[in-house]
Amino acid sequence: MKCVVLGLGKSGIAAISFLEEKDYDVYVYDDNEFKLSEYGDRFNFIKKPEMPEGSSLLVISPGVSRTHPLYIDALEKEIDIAGELEVAARYIEHAKVVAVTGTNGKSTTVTLAYEILKASGYKVFLCGNIGVPVLSENFDEYDFLVIELSSFQLETLKSLKVDTAAVLNITPDHLDRYDSFEEYGAVKLSLFDLVKKDGRFVIPSDKSLIPGFDTDAEKDVKRFSWNEKSDVLYEKGFIKTSLGDVKIKGTTLDVPHNIENFMAAFLLTEPFIKDIECLNSAVASFSALPHRTTFVDEINGVRFVDDSKATNVGAVEKSLAGFAPDSVILILGGVDKGGSYMPLASLIKEKCRMILLIGDAAPIIKKELDGIVPIFECGYDMRLCVNKGYELAEKGNTVLLSPACSSYDMYPNYGARGNDFCEKVKELR
Ligand code: ADP
Repeated sequence: MKCVVLGLGKSGIAAISFLEEKDYDVYVYDDNEFKLSEYGDRFNFIKKPEMPEGSSLLVISPGVSRTHPLYIDALEKEIDIAGELEVAARYIEHAKVVAVTGTNGKSTTVTLAYEILKASGYKVFLCGNIGVPVLSENFDEYDFLVIELSSFQLETLKSLKVDTAAVLNITPDHLDRYDSFEEYGAVKLSLFDLVKKDGRFVIPSDKSLIPGFDTDAEKDVKRFSWNEKSDVLYEKGFIKTSLGDVKIKGTTLDVPHNIENFMAAFLLTEPFIKDIECLNSAVASFSALPHRTTFVDEINGVRFVDDSKATNVGAVEKSLAGFAPDSVILILGGVDKGGSYMPLASLIKEKCRMILLIGDAAPIIKKELDGIVPIFECGYDMRLCVNKGYELAEKGNTVLLSPACSSYDMYPNYGARGNDFCEKVKELR
């Protein structure tokens, strides 16, 4: 059996070892010529983006564009195309699967679901888009796989049999990859096609967050919301579950989006939880993941908050909602993803004193949001953003990096962008 792995990232490398063990003759292609010099002596590279004669499988990395010549070649030759997760799915026999997708909140929700199941005594593997390839471990030796799924990964996923699944929200993102918002939404909702007959679907109560979902489906559907009718309730710092009340007041989870993420994690794991103590233990062990509305420092009464992970408008909305009126100096910008920034206009008017723009998307954002609050352009200079933010802020204000864009114009990823922001705050101090 012959196959090609396209893209030598973490998941591509894990796929190669796995497929070799399964007796595939594995070829590798990557656009980046540095990969050839780095791995040339370990892997069998093909030079041209063409499927070798006799290949039966193309394994693609999630980030690879659907216009890639090798992808097109495989498509034209009607060769099986699968992502790393689809490859794994074909070999899962024992492990139960909890899967989560959505525009925002995925990593937080899967981390919480993982903690709850672990506290319930199961052997659990947290994997997928969170940064751990499923093929990097003997996945079928686990009781549970808790999988974070991006829309890119869902595109090639067909064989996964899911026990409980959540689509947390669908708001505009990645419109540079998809032809329309509807197409992006349909890919997210395709997760529900993978749920077993007796499986569970977890969705938000707010229907506008899950456009296109067929609520008539005869399925075990559970809903979550921090302030609407839902299958779990939030009241005065407590989440009221079927197992009892969980106190989250005073923890990092006590903000609207994390309350909902916790509710989703609870509903996903409810059929398997040992007792209420497992929920309390998940709350206690949860420390907010980095670059997600993370406090950085306070200098002379001015706070700095790193929300570099907010790479789309929906995430910035949730983030801004938690601040007092007229208290935020907001840093926006990076690589534009093709959606509109207008949904932010009213929140910006209410919460922000000023916008600082950075990176490629600056002119686009300026054109859309001009006239709401003053805008200052910082070019490609994070230091200028931080210093200008401090200079313009009053005591009690927050300089918030919540950029609504991806980071690839200036950084390798959102983490590096957040770290640079923190670094420049440190310099300022
Ligand atoms: P993802 O893995 O989907 O990117 P994360 O859990 O890493 O999500 O959170 C990323 C950012 O999205 C956070 O900084 C926060 O601003 C925002 N966010 C988190 N949960 C939600 C939610 N349920 N709804 C909307 N925005 C959210």
